[in-house]
Amino acid sequence: MFDYLAQYRMLAPQIDEAIHRVLKSGRLILGPEVEAFEDEFSEFLGGSGFSIGVGNGTDAVAIALRALEVGPEDEVVTVSNTAVPTVSAIREAGATPVFCDVDERTGLMDLDLLDSCLTQRTKAVVAVHLFGNVVDIPRLRTIISGRDVAVVEDCAQAHGAMLNGVMAGTMGDVGAFSFYPTKNLGAYGDGGMCFTKDRGLAGRIRSIRMYGFEGQHYSVREGVNSRLDELQAAVLRVKLQHLPEYIQRRRAIAERYDTLLGGVVTPVVPGPGVLHAYHLYVVRTAQREKLRAALKESGVGSAVHYPYAIHRMEAYCFLGYGEGALPVTEKLAGEILSLPMYPELSFEDVSFVCEAVRCVLD
Ligand SMILES: *Cc1c(COP(=O)(O)O)cnc(C)c1O
Repeated sequence: MFDYLAQYRMLAPQIDEAIHRVLKSGRLILGPEVEAFEDEFSEFLGGSGFSIGVGNGTDAVAIALRALEVGPEDEVVTVSNTAVPTVSAIREAGATPVFCDVDERTGLMDLDLLDSCLTQRTKAVVAVHLFGNVVDIPRLRTIISGRDVAVVEDCAQAHGAMLNGVMAGTMGDVGAFSFYPTKNLGAYGDGGMCFTKDRGLAGRIRSIRMYGFEGQHYSVREGVNSRLDELQAAVLRVKLQHLPEYIQRRRAIAERYDTLLGGVVTPVVPGPGVLHAYHLYVVRTAQREKLRAALKESGVGSAVHYPYAIHRMEAYCFLGYGEGALPVTEKLAGEILSLPMYPELSFEDVSFVCEAVRCVLD
């Protein structure tokens, strides 16, 4: 499912040069590499706005919420079919997660249900661009208009995804990105980024990532320690140059899968107007366990993102969601399967995977 060495082998000269440049520079924390990467990342997202490097994607969501002044009295609406960190970030900010059910076809927040999740206490919505698909943020904003509710886009799986020609992460108040090694843009360790077009918000995020400092040694607000380091930034600068071609390749692989698997499994589809980034290629089948076992037999890796809905996990029982509270989320958790998806995957391998799937399900 994931092998960082395949990509490292191709980029080794550039990556090694970048790492040595940092080691010889005498700067390890918040120096020129992070600054340059922040600028280049803003450029990648369309040119206007502020990128602020942070320690990881979870912190990117949590710091965004804190900078938006979300706190313990507040509710934050999100989905339950996401990676746990989306929810732990909301808890890190002290707020209470409220779960909206999802659309069966796209796997994304069902915006027809969003209004029924809003209360007087709702302070933000964390929209998750799951698998590299994109939530219709303009429509979401229409639904919350007239209320004091902020929008954070969880873009951990959606670097380079677009809605009607606009980059994911640039449509809400803050876009929160992860550079965990497996993501579409991955570091060799942890890393994350907040993006915003609001200068004031950018300043608060920058302050919160380092103890709430403004200037040196003086906290104007309570902050945390969550920095992107120079080594990871230098590596990410190299990889960012290749990201558009990697995403193109992911799209070409997805197209192959769509063609070769038509009628056998149900793919989780892009929403209208979405140019998907295919962090994951996910299909649905009622015979998931049988298919997984057969693929394993044939030497094909697969995974489930994610097998447990968060509202049904022990840690989040206290939120009070019983079985059946989010019927579509729970149904999808039993049917979804992620097939191999990474830029170095050959079309021959894609055909092999599809043959193996058809053998079981045809
Ligand atoms: C990976 C991921 C995160 C968290 O990112 P980390 O860098 O691992 O903290 C958050 N949300 C989603 C949807 C993710 O896939």
